[in-house]
Amino acid sequence: MDTFFFFTLFSPILFSSLFFFLEFIGNKNSSIFKKRTFIFLSFGLLAILASLGISNLMGIFINFYSSFNIASPSYENFPSWLVIIIIILELDLANYLTHRFMHFVPFLWRFHRLHHSDRKVNALTTLLHHPLEVIINSVLIVGFYVAFDLPIILIIFYNILLALHSAFVHSTIRIPKSMEKWVGYIFVMPVMHRSHHSIDVSYGNANYGSIFSMWDRLLGTYKQKEVSKANPMVFGVDISKTPKENSMQSFLINPLV
Ligand SMILES: [Zn+2]
Repeated sequence: MDTFFFFTLFSPILFSSLFFFLEFIGNKNSSIFKKRTFIFLSFGLLAILASLGISNLMGIFINFYSSFNIASPSYENFPSWLVIIIIILELDLANYLTHRFMHFVPFLWRFHRLHHSDRKVNALTTLLHHPLEVIINSVLIVGFYVAFDLPIILIIFYNILLALHSAFVHSTIRIPKSMEKWVGYIFVMPVMHRSHHSIDVSYGNANYGSIFSMWDRLLGTYKQKEVSKANPMVFGVDISKTPKENSMQSFLINPLV
């Protein structure tokens, strides 16, 4: 299990590097990407250190959450393939909800906004998270795993799948429009997630889904920005008057300001 655990920890770096490589070889103006590589990979390593740092503390949280014992449903009468699908959907819903919290609880947004401060969203953006967001998110999501008594093997499988999918939806890789549309009825596609990174908050506060697009459609948060030459996508966060205060450095160093 330890090997799987370490693979899960490193999977965001592995998959975002893979998609970044595909973006890099497909882009003539690849020099822009070189500047980003070092800093974003550092964020990926920082997230691993943050996760390892709190892994010892997790025992305390797990004891705390297990006292809630919210739901440990019996799947005895269900075929195993259906149980796997239900649990994967539960895990995905948990991610949708924590992501939505990150936007709507002002204290949590102060950490999550670093992820949205990137003005050139690509596969490496997957790695851009405030270390404290990584810790808060882990505490919330592990609480969900424990309270709903979810099996570790499916948690690991889902998180590896999530790392792969997350690198894909942040990437600039071009997908045929018809494929984006039809596959997008089931899965979050790059066009849907990149719209969530819009500087326009009416689109930024929408499309919270991780792997499956249905949560946004069912819970009323699906909103797709139509992009054209006349109406291009602009990424980033614009909450302050000066560009310096809206910068990655500012959100990293002064999250509470
Ligand atoms: Zn977000």
